[in-house]
Amino acid sequence: MKGIAVLGSTGSIGLSTLDVIERHPDRFRAIALTAHRNVERMAEQCRRIKPSFAVMVDADAANRLRDALSDLDASPEVLSGAQALETVAVLPEVDYVMAAIVGAAGLMSSLAAARAGKRLLLANKEALVVAGAILMRAARDNDATLLPIDSEHNAIFQCLPARFNREISQSEDQYPGRGRNHAWENSGVERILLTASGGPFRDAPADSLATVTPEQACAHPNWSMGRKISVDSATMMNKGLEIIEACWLFATVPDRIQVVVHRQSVIHSMVQYNDGSVLAQLGNPDMRTPIAHALAWPERIPAGVEPLNLFEIARLDFESPAPEQFPCLRLAYRAAAESGTAPVVMNAANEVAVAAFLDRQIGFMDIASVVERSMDRLPAEPVDLSGLEQVLEVDRQARTVAKHCVSETVP
Ligand code: NAD
Ligand code: MG
Repeated sequence: MKGIAVLGSTGSIGLSTLDVIERHPDRFRAIALTAHRNVERMAEQCRRIKPSFAVMVDADAANRLRDALSDLDASPEVLSGAQALETVAVLPEVDYVMAAIVGAAGLMSSLAAARAGKRLLLANKEALVVAGAILMRAARDNDATLLPIDSEHNAIFQCLPARFNREISQSEDQYPGRGRNHAWENSGVERILLTASGGPFRDAPADSLATVTPEQACAHPNWSMGRKISVDSATMMNKGLEIIEACWLFATVPDRIQVVVHRQSVIHSMVQYNDGSVLAQLGNPDMRTPIAHALAWPERIPAGVEPLNLFEIARLDFESPAPEQFPCLRLAYRAAAESGTAPVVMNAANEVAVAAFLDRQIGFMDIASVVERSMDRLPAEPVDLSGLEQVLEVDRQARTVAKHCVSETVP
């Protein structure tokens, strides 16, 4: 029986995680659930799942949750504040931590889980983007098992030989390294083919995007996700973040990662080998597959996902992304090449810009412009590996600069 902390249990990944956990009561028990401020959904989850701990980061929401659960005989211990996320991530009875908080807000708890040597199921890609060097090193030094939940990275993990994944997790030779290291050479891995659906605007002419609404941007054709990642998918910043995420997880450089637009979202990514083989992982677009994979790994368990019907799908298409339509993808390549703190600035500015877009303060195409101007104003510095202070400080500065760029944008 494995004890699990689900960080971000009220979100899209959180809900899918609880769905898989509840299918396997003989294997998994949710020890702790956490949320920002959605009291109603957390109260419902506590009644159903009966965790030992429930965290509401917002103090007022925590009080309301205590009230909402006051009739329960055995109600969970309710904690509040961002620090409580780390507290539950390192509990001795927690074996696995699902890191499903959105944005850089998930960084500290993901890092705490890695430092405590937990199995870290990482959906929170932003943590790797802003502090990949520190997080990967913490996982290696503390024997934490890091399993990717992002569907593409989970697919790549599945298409790589087990030996590769073992070597990478113990390797000193990490990104931004030479891009060719022992694990790559020994396994004959040539390239990673990172698939992208292209989002809801893949067929829209670039000049029609200025007037896109948040509702249109959040209506993803293949996946149902939280609002921030839905907008990131529409700008393709999501793919940009995923390139950087892949560099860290698989110890490589952006040159060895090719983005392939594949509109059906059936192939979740591929690995190309030096003998001409390309291995792919296929499945219906449902996050319960990577979640179940990482929960049970190296075994397999049912995830509640419909089996793939290839005759219904009938065809698989592949295209190259159009760079003029997706400036965020270009900015992510720039951040990956500059490395150091450039991805921190890019990520923080993107979070601010996406929130401003969702709030209707700026237009869809202004998102890339806010990110670019923020990156221009805060040049990359080398990352200080001794702790998170520098990264957190740059993240704060970038948010201030990006908010300024947003205010300049408003007519
Ligand atoms: P979501 O917005 O649906 O849920 C976010 C969760 O984080 C909620 O539980 C919320 O309460 C919590 N949260 C938000 N802000 C917080 C804060 N400041 N402090 C503490 N908790 C906070 O997001 P999601 O779509 O589930 O995505 C979660 C993460 O997984 C993101 O990093 C996203 O990029 C990644 N991801 C999601 C999907 C998907 O299909 N949804 C796929 C791949 C990767
Ligand atoms: Mg993804």
